[in-house]
Amino acid sequence: MKTIHALAKRLQAGEVTSAALTEQYLARIAELNPALNAYLTVAGDLAMADARTADDRLRRRADLTPLTGVPIAIKDVIVTKGIRTTCGSKILADYLPPYDATVIARLRAAGAVILGKCNMDEFAMGSSNEHSAFGPVKNPWDTSRIPGGSSGGPAAAVAADCCAAALGSDTGGSIRQPASHCGIVGCKPTYGRVSRYGLVAFASSLDQIGPMTKDVRDAALLLEAIAGFDPNDSTALNVPVPSYQTELERGVRGLKIGVPKEYFVGGLDPEVAACIRSAIDTMKALGAEVSDISLPHTEYAVPCYYIIAPAEASANLARYDGVRFGLRAGNGAVSLKAMYGATRTDGFGPEVTLRILLGTYVLSSGYYDAYYRKAQQVRTLIKQDFLTAFNAVDAILTPTAPTTAFRFGEKTADPLQMYLSDIYTISCNLAGLPGVSIPCGFVNRLPVGLQLIGRPLDEATLLRIAYAYEQATPWHTQQPEAGISQPS
Ligand code: GLN
Repeated sequence: MKTIHALAKRLQAGEVTSAALTEQYLARIAELNPALNAYLTVAGDLAMADARTADDRLRRRADLTPLTGVPIAIKDVIVTKGIRTTCGSKILADYLPPYDATVIARLRAAGAVILGKCNMDEFAMGSSNEHSAFGPVKNPWDTSRIPGGSSGGPAAAVAADCCAAALGSDTGGSIRQPASHCGIVGCKPTYGRVSRYGLVAFASSLDQIGPMTKDVRDAALLLEAIAGFDPNDSTALNVPVPSYQTELERGVRGLKIGVPKEYFVGGLDPEVAACIRSAIDTMKALGAEVSDISLPHTEYAVPCYYIIAPAEASANLARYDGVRFGLRAGNGAVSLKAMYGATRTDGFGPEVTLRILLGTYVLSSGYYDAYYRKAQQVRTLIKQDFLTAFNAVDAILTPTAPTTAFRFGEKTADPLQMYLSDIYTISCNLAGLPGVSIPCGFVNRLPVGLQLIGRPLDEATLLRIAYAYEQATPWHTQQPEAGISQPS
């Protein structure tokens, strides 16, 4: 497994150069991407230039970090100066950002190599990558199945070893659910832990950037590299970032883990549930104290999210009007309004259009109180459930997703079925809490993910529990080699 930490050792020992490594990754992407569609843009020349700069730094042993020379992939919702950033949408198909997101600037400062930009559901709205304007991503474990969404491109790229690790974004589960379906580690940090400057906004009170990696140590070191205050994002918290890596090996003995009874009801695949129960036994064997807890407002999370997220999206996406950037349609239109209409009709796909309509509706006068204000009140209750639970436990353990990766087309006809794929991940965003998904087994050779949810800003405890579990189990060492060559 080419983890960041393993590659860093080889790079720093002079066993391989970043240029050679980057070439290997570019070759692998060229070989596998036609089948997977995980990358939308491969920044080959820029990546080779990054690699040569990193090699120079490695030779001088100047200012080395675990990321120096390591090839990383980026979800195409994070802006990259001079590298096309599409958000999986036709409306931004040719958009070249004039600046780097803060997380990109931090990766570059650490010496990372940016390989390219990964496919995603349009504007991060989706759970299967079937809403990308550039075609779906295939799951490397079985190419007839979805990789999860919306960060399906980064998840597939990590699982198929088309990068050392990736950055994704998570508004309602978009890092954790595809991580679960692709058998990798995905971490959504606390709201405000990582700067959103340069993350194209979907729902600003929910969005967070986070690592998608091959193991927990990589998630810890990548989070450490991107987290922390940023004057360019007023919601970025000005609090110290702990050394997640040094916390990892402290074990779980004496830690209290709660299992919410509301997460083990109808809709949860029994075989997925069995993997989770066996993970609970492992946690107990490792010395954690596991108890049942209740999060009574869980059933309201999906409806609450599908009011708040579209409401915020409808405001955020108003900027795509054909005037300032992106696609312009209807040039011959008789009025400005007609040009706006033509641009937005032509540029947005059906799911984005649906969400804008939903969001506009719940914010409109007469409905604001009935829907939007009510959803905000329910959001407070959901948050309160967690804070009460954290009086008794240090972390909460749940499945990440109710099923393993489903087949293409299985849920596209019924948006509600699709929305229910995020039933276990959404609450965490509504409450602003950190969540991690780690591999915890297989059902019919498809990966299953285990989710850990923590107290605000307590990513360290989550990663520590995740690491203890990972080191005691074989799941993270499995790779989908056979799956990639399967016919689609
Ligand atoms: N699947 C959820 C949605 O469609 C979450 C997406 C996300 O986290 N970006 O909104």
